[in-house]
Amino acid sequence: MADDYAFPTGDLMRGKKGLVMGVANHNSIAYGIAAQLAAQGAEMAWTYMGESLERRVRPLAEGLGVKHLIACDVADDASMDSAFAEISKVLGGLDFVVHSIAFANKDELKGSFVDNTTRDGFLTAMNISAYSFVDVARRSAPLMANGGSMICMTYLGAERVIPNYNTMGVAKAALEASTRYIARDLGPKGIRVNAISAGAMRTLSLAGISGGRGMIAQGRAFSAMKEDTSMEGVAGAALWLLSDLGKSTTGEIVHVDAGFHMMGMSADDEAEG
Ligand code: NAD
Repeated sequence: MADDYAFPTGDLMRGKKGLVMGVANHNSIAYGIAAQLAAQGAEMAWTYMGESLERRVRPLAEGLGVKHLIACDVADDASMDSAFAEISKVLGGLDFVVHSIAFANKDELKGSFVDNTTRDGFLTAMNISAYSFVDVARRSAPLMANGGSMICMTYLGAERVIPNYNTMGVAKAALEASTRYIARDLGPKGIRVNAISAGAMRTLSLAGISGGRGMIAQGRAFSAMKEDTSMEGVAGAALWLLSDLGKSTTGEIVHVDAGFHMMGMSADDEAEG
């Protein structure tokens, strides 16, 4: 199934061991990143959310030669405790971590942010989509005895208002700020920490956002390149940041969105001038 994508093969990750969190299905960004890392020789453990997903995730893991599949709910301390004990046992240490996890209540991913955001919904989005990265970083750092690299996934809704993205945009802003603070703390240990800000892609998470498909269409229409964000582009950026190619880059938010983030006006508007 990784054959759907054109991932370059090589040895950039040979000898490196890491953790990938957030594969739900074949469309998950975490799956694309993991497939690229596997094509470059990485050894991985994956965590997945809840037993109900295992049936779908296990064949994907086996298809990429991933031997360690561990259940982990990032909102549950006991689940995090046992997952990280297992990761330490099966891998012995970590060179890289991919955090590709987010959640917000569907009811809050539509309409008016100010009217629809509840205290519980706000805190849930913050907990699962932002705090969990801090927790993962704290638990992973002691396993990175020789330094390492961590990434998380973010979106432009952290920096600008994207209709319906609402509470998730606020959580992504916290995630991006957390990336910088974690990068500062772990820098002296030789651990780099970055975020990839991907353009809209057709995944389960996007389906939960009201008008999610419109986000893809607008991302394409307003992007400098007039094209969709590709899994190859996102996975390639992840490979750069997680391999030694990313040496000296930390605390960065890397946009991989065909140039959507930097446009101030669409070319069509210009032409109408
Ligand atoms: P996805 O639904 O495939 O992945 C989201 C993952 O989060 C799933 O594997 C889900 O099981 C996991 N998750 C949710 N709650 C969890 C919990 N409590 N504990 C553990 N895992 C939990 O969708 P995706 O689009 O691949 O999302 C991955 C990341 O990329 C997210 O952070 C998302 O916000 C981000 N992102 C997505 C897009 C997009 O357009 N799809 C764009 C930019 C950034």
